[in-house]
Amino acid sequence: MKIHKVAVLGAGTMGAGIAQWFCQVGASEGIQVELSDAAEEQLERAKNNIHASWDKLAAKGKFTQEQVDSFKSALLLKEDFSKDCDLFIEAIVESLPIKIEVLQKLSAHFQAKTIMASNTSSIPIDAMARELPQKRQGQFLGLHFFNPAPIMKLVEIVQGHWTSAELTENLSQWFEDKGKKPALCQDGPGFIVNRLARNFYGEPLRLAGTEDTKVFKEIDDTLKEVGGFRMGPFELMDLIGIDINYSVSESVWKSFYYEPRFAPHALQRKMVTSGRLGRKTKGGFYEYS
Ligand code: NAD
Repeated sequence: MKIHKVAVLGAGTMGAGIAQWFCQVGASEGIQVELSDAAEEQLERAKNNIHASWDKLAAKGKFTQEQVDSFKSALLLKEDFSKDCDLFIEAIVESLPIKIEVLQKLSAHFQAKTIMASNTSSIPIDAMARELPQKRQGQFLGLHFFNPAPIMKLVEIVQGHWTSAELTENLSQWFEDKGKKPALCQDGPGFIVNRLARNFYGEPLRLAGTEDTKVFKEIDDTLKEVGGFRMGPFELMDLIGIDINYSVSESVWKSFYYEPRFAPHALQRKMVTSGRLGRKTKGGFYEYS
């Protein structure tokens, strides 16, 4: 499989990280990464953050200055993507109608060869694929990266009803060659990780029951010390974004016909309603300066 040009839509937490990773693994072989966002200032901010991250990694000796220069020239900010991209990844807001609108528009824009993928955390791939022209459906799949995308090795490769099996196998091999750990999975609520992880968040929320940082810390510390987890559930929800985590919880719960074991918790809704979304708002289950 040959990938020369990658397009990433959405320059938020995930889109910026995905674009950064593709530059890091692809610049040396001439891969270009086009990044776009509906909000111009967000796009500029993402570029500055990515550049700052590379400068920091160069200062630490993780990359040479020549490598960083090549990463920077591989990253292109775009209003409109080139039509001949080999791979397009959508990483915009987690809303089915908005994703469908964008995918339909871009499906008419890109050449037939372009593989189109969604980084959705919880929306069924088939719910998007069914709204695409038939000739696109075989080349559409889920590519679910994890946060932070340049560091987390796992990428779920989600096979929808129409996705070509040859495509998922080839992509899986491509990602493996580039140092990711691909997990091939079937379309379904939460795929693998977000389905299994519901209990990692839900049960601690039910155990804590109420807003009390001391209790959050006790649970986080216990899971880290006893369970060997690198982060506790409350720390992780703060990192992911409590709003994102809450919408995934709701979506998985609804998809399983409101099974109580997947039910979101009132505390999540309270945090979202009051705008305490975690690290990105400098406060969530914990405070950040
Ligand atoms: P985010 O809010 O950080 O970024 C979303 C970006 O999309 C914003 O910059 C916004 O301006 C842009 N955007 C919104 N609508 C747009 C449109 N119509 N056209 C172009 N740009 C648009 O969100 P995120 O956390 O990066 O999540 C993006 C996607 O990745 C979601 O589907 C989410 O479920 C998924 N995801 C998130 C995580 C996570 O840990 N945050 C992990 C895996 C997957």
